[in-house]
Amino acid sequence: MPKTITEQNLHHLIDALLAEGVRVIGPKRADALTIYAPLANGEELDLDQLPRRSAKEAFFPPCETILSFEKRDGKITVSDPDLNRLPETVLIGVRPCDAVAPGILDAVFSWDYDDPFYLERRKRTTIIGIACTSADDACFCTAVGCSPDARKGSDLFLVPLQGGGFVVEAMDGKGSALKARYEALLATSGSAQPLPLAVPAVDSLDLEKIRTWLAGNFEHPLWQEIASRCAGCGACAFLCPACHCFDIVDEGGEAGGCRRKHWDACGFGKFTMHASAHNPRDVQPQRYRNRIMHKFKYYADKFNQTLCTGCGRCIRWCPVGIDIKAVLDEINKK
Ligand code: SF4
Ligand code: SF4
Repeated sequence: MPKTITEQNLHHLIDALLAEGVRVIGPKRADALTIYAPLANGEELDLDQLPRRSAKEAFFPPCETILSFEKRDGKITVSDPDLNRLPETVLIGVRPCDAVAPGILDAVFSWDYDDPFYLERRKRTTIIGIACTSADDACFCTAVGCSPDARKGSDLFLVPLQGGGFVVEAMDGKGSALKARYEALLATSGSAQPLPLAVPAVDSLDLEKIRTWLAGNFEHPLWQEIASRCAGCGACAFLCPACHCFDIVDEGGEAGGCRRKHWDACGFGKFTMHASAHNPRDVQPQRYRNRIMHKFKYYADKFNQTLCTGCGRCIRWCPVGIDIKAVLDEINKK
């Protein structure tokens, strides 16, 4: 018999976690937007909309200090942040297109160097995913190997039910432990029916065909046609659950300061600027080409995964209306 939880008890679960000192991050309203943010109580959880920004910030913050330094009496002290102080975190109400992303990013953050900041947060975070029951014209998760009820990436998974409440499924040891810890909030129910799943706008793409086309068309005129209007604003990268480029900058002065990791984006004009002032990607279509190449060829070549979950954020919020799913569809038809 499946275990279920009412919406009210889901709020109680959040309150109980908070009372134990666990940081709980979930979708909540912030003025006109829904965003993933730390919840102050269970009532703040708002599962109605896909949050504007992705959930990657829980593991990979937009800006973080990776060391600090101080010069006192001629002596220089360098100190590392204490990663043991990172909080145990539960990330709740995560749609499949967001929940799957950390698993994709694990490959790069533990590839030639184990990034302790990212990996420590991953270790301390439990993801409670939720099946998706609403899609819009920008959604295309099914075309890139995800789906509205994909469990991949979730430790615990919620399936919304007709009439309210959710089925609660444990997907791994972390999920089972959390489920067991709050067993008293669950009920056993065999009759409730799940809500119909969302239907994404594009059903399928031949990702292997796209990858092959990309391999042979680095200089194709299509890049100029698609991306000459790209403003290089970086919104697509910053909103994306899978984009992960960052820059490292030293801040401060002679007396002290810190080294910080900041999000970066291949759409920015200075992303590939050399110290000599030569820029190998000196016009916007070359930068957009890199975005597509990285997601659908380079990452696939290196890690056998696509660096896109079909969440549609880059389509919804691109200020000049560049639509990655239309780009992929066009390549798919060639
Ligand atoms: S590339 Fe666009 S659609 Fe794909 S995961 Fe990133 S934001 Fe979502
Ligand atoms: S959001 Fe649109 S305009 Fe901005 S960098 Fe991405 S593709 Fe270019």
